[in-house]
Amino acid sequence: MRAVAVFPGPRVVKVIEQEAPRITEPDQVMLRMLDIGICGTDKEICSFEYGTPPPGDDHLVIGHESVAEVVGVGSAVERLRAGDLVVSSVRRPCPHPGCLACRSGHQDYCYTGDFSERGIKEAHGYMAEYVVDRERYMNLVPPGLREIAVLAEPLTIAEKALAQIFWMMQNRPPWLDPQARAGEQGRGLSALVLGIGPVGLLGAMTLATAGFSTYVYSRELPPNPRIDLVDAIGATYVSSQATTFPELAERMGNIDLIYEAVGHSHFALRALPVLGTNGIFVLTGVPGLQAFVETDPASTMRNLVLKNQVLLGTVNAGTDAFAAALRDLDAFRQRWPAAVGTLIAGRFPAEQAPELILGRPTGIKSVITFDTSA
Ligand SMILES: [Zn+2]
Ligand SMILES: [Zn+2]
Repeated sequence: MRAVAVFPGPRVVKVIEQEAPRITEPDQVMLRMLDIGICGTDKEICSFEYGTPPPGDDHLVIGHESVAEVVGVGSAVERLRAGDLVVSSVRRPCPHPGCLACRSGHQDYCYTGDFSERGIKEAHGYMAEYVVDRERYMNLVPPGLREIAVLAEPLTIAEKALAQIFWMMQNRPPWLDPQARAGEQGRGLSALVLGIGPVGLLGAMTLATAGFSTYVYSRELPPNPRIDLVDAIGATYVSSQATTFPELAERMGNIDLIYEAVGHSHFALRALPVLGTNGIFVLTGVPGLQAFVETDPASTMRNLVLKNQVLLGTVNAGTDAFAAALRDLDAFRQRWPAAVGTLIAGRFPAEQAPELILGRPTGIKSVITFDTSA
């Protein structure tokens, strides 16, 4: 079978032929991979800045944003059967008995850093025709979401963050309604998304669905299909080339939430001073090492204290976030069918993966497909 692999030694990214895996344990499932999304993490891995092959291997099969069809199950598998569609979670627990996060099934909060991640760190990924995995890491996908389920994994970033934001909002300013129904948690509040990549756009859709008055701020100027998508979901796009952070804050009023999805430390730091009273600043981007900048830690500290602010970092996601992502994808699809259709730029064969990953992104999300029936 074919797989897309990166070889850090000779610094090569290519399609390889390898033997298809087999079920060897009773809790395993055999997956026929359908779609695998490409993201910035893949680009970093294929530029040899990030990513580690499994111990003893000279290569890493990439791919972590997946949707697959179950084609075989081990004797102890209970929830799944052949024909089911699944999205796999990516991170696998560390082996340490003392890691309370991993031992309780919350490896996204792992203390030790010795977790593995399929397609990223010490475990092969999903950009292959067939994959064997364990039932417990599979998230069942309703058949109606087949076309967009590949977006579930990148959407979990926003879902994990929002679950914590809602919890904090419902437990902090005491006048907010703790019983607010889905779609109303953000009513009367404003949210600013930094960045217009897939994580930012999916974050904006999630915030708009939760009822926030949502702004998206990035460098790009119109015309741009990503800006069209912001318009289509009823959010407001503002370009950093035309409007400064203070001007933006003036326009938005109290900024209750900033959702950072650019991974650029200077840009994120420049946004901190406009975070509003009782505001929450969520960081999701992982910046590469960037030039040192002078900052003003005193005013940052003053604001955090005097305005009851929260600075929150979040990485990876657990089972609840996958369930929420699949629920929200269905909500997006019903609410904005045309816009959701534009999220996936195209489906391409595995042979095109290296150039798609390393080239300039064309649409919003490029997808590698092994589904010959599509
Ligand atoms: Zn990704
Ligand atoms: Zn751990």
